[in-house]
Amino acid sequence: MTKESHTKKTISLDEYGISNAQIRYQLDPEQLHDITIEKGQGVEASSGALAVNTGEFTGRSPLDRFIVKDAITEDKVWWSHINLPFEPSKFDSLYNKVVAYLSNKEVFVRDCYACADPHYKLNIRVINEYAWSNMFAYNMFLRPTELELKNFKSEWTVINAPGFMAKPEIDGTRQHNFAILNFTKKIALIGGTGYTGEIKKGIFSALNFILPVYKNTLPMHCSANVGKAGDTAIFFGLSGTGKTTLSTDPNRSLIGDDEHGWTAENTVFNFEGGCYAKVINLSRENEPEIYDAIKKGAILENVKLDAQNNVLFDDTSITQNTRVSYPLYHIENIQTPSIGKNPKNIFFLTADAFGVLPPISKLTPSQAAYHFISGYTAKVAGTEAGVLEPQPSFSACFGAPFMPLHPTKYAEMLSQKMTDSGVNVWLINTGWTGGPYGVGTRMKLKYTRAMINAVLNGDLGLYEYDKYHIHSVFGVAQPRECPGVPTSVLSPRATWNDDQAYYTTAFKLTNAFRENFKKFEPYASEEIRRGGPQRYAF
Ligand code: ATP
Ligand code: MN
Repeated sequence: MTKESHTKKTISLDEYGISNAQIRYQLDPEQLHDITIEKGQGVEASSGALAVNTGEFTGRSPLDRFIVKDAITEDKVWWSHINLPFEPSKFDSLYNKVVAYLSNKEVFVRDCYACADPHYKLNIRVINEYAWSNMFAYNMFLRPTELELKNFKSEWTVINAPGFMAKPEIDGTRQHNFAILNFTKKIALIGGTGYTGEIKKGIFSALNFILPVYKNTLPMHCSANVGKAGDTAIFFGLSGTGKTTLSTDPNRSLIGDDEHGWTAENTVFNFEGGCYAKVINLSRENEPEIYDAIKKGAILENVKLDAQNNVLFDDTSITQNTRVSYPLYHIENIQTPSIGKNPKNIFFLTADAFGVLPPISKLTPSQAAYHFISGYTAKVAGTEAGVLEPQPSFSACFGAPFMPLHPTKYAEMLSQKMTDSGVNVWLINTGWTGGPYGVGTRMKLKYTRAMINAVLNGDLGLYEYDKYHIHSVFGVAQPRECPGVPTSVLSPRATWNDDQAYYTTAFKLTNAFRENFKKFEPYASEEIRRGGPQRYAF
């Protein structure tokens, strides 16, 4: 093997306490692809993409995510079941064990950065035990030029050792896996899990603290794209609600699919350099851009392949959360650099498995603030037999697991920006229609796309109020008509054919909203509280 000949410069890892490692620095994705296959850690799918299994973990592990409680974070972080504190001394001893584990091993190192706007650039060094995790970092973070690499000074370090297992009783973790952020040392320490999402969401969580605290910028768990007229749209939503799917639009340039900042200079920029799409049931017919991005350079995670190494997209035997990561340049229509102006439209995406929220509605500023703080979506019973009841799921700011500060901090910033920019805010239900999960069906993607296009093309008669109907339970404004969408689909009640069942279920949901909102009431103004549903069951 002559892989070393490609290495661009020699680096040492002594400063990290990693000694005598065989350092593979800044390898090209092609090399990492080949090394992964040579080591038997992955195979090449028929499309040319690398297919790997991430091991025990096929999703993030929110209960094992900690923040070191120190002088920087102590008074600022919202310590809770989401932001679990970790002692500095415990961090130091665990860190020492991880770097000892990586010493004398082959390690893959990559210098890269986050934040497409140069003013906010965060240089990162990622140190991985595995080649494919390092290739993930190539795909997902921004890639420095040769010149930038020459003078590269990294600020944050990600140390990623999936094979290292913590001993909870000694190390202070909950179990053998952990993802710990240390803001004083500027380190994200990840061990015991190979799930790559921990790497990207580790840096996201760090930025969700750094940007609002030091840079007066609102970090957002959203996707973003821009139209031909330069009009930016952003899409907030929890996992599986459609951020990646709906922002990837042949007629609009993609800014990014998951993490963005909204600056005081009225711009929106992507934190990342790639996309991380769900591939469950993916088809070329429904999502051609994403489908075609799965080629050499992309990494498929936890998918099953047939004998010819074709991906079986509907096989969920490893996990429902099958994924692909690819660099942004695998998508044809992208915005370069990944920066847009103030958004003209904001979409809150929710996959309402109760099937009671309208597929599209317009929110007032109060309603927008209320729904942002609530962050509603629904979880459906996976494959468990007999379980048909959907569960409401609320996650503040549509991304609570990644938000170190109190949710109201982000909500206040967003409210201010919405007022200043006069942006329109829409609630889109990409979930169920015609009844709840188990009875109705998922909203057709082509209808959701048509509704979003209608907004973006200005076809919904925004200021003609007779074109809207105020929903009697949720209080939101439903358009009566929308090009490309059968009128009957626009009214969830009409799709049910059973008014009583519809209202009973709608009240079940509004009660869940009210229950969830209780913890925010002390912080919420009368204005925001007015944005909640109008009717509840008693
Ligand atoms: P994550 O934060 O985990 O990346 P996401 O918000 O980006 O999640 P997507 O990857 O876009 O979520 O997933 C949406 C999934 O739902 C896709 O598999 C898509 O095909 C499917 N889907 C089905 N119907 C719709 C619809 N009407 N609108 C959007 N997506 C839909
Ligand atoms: Mn996504």
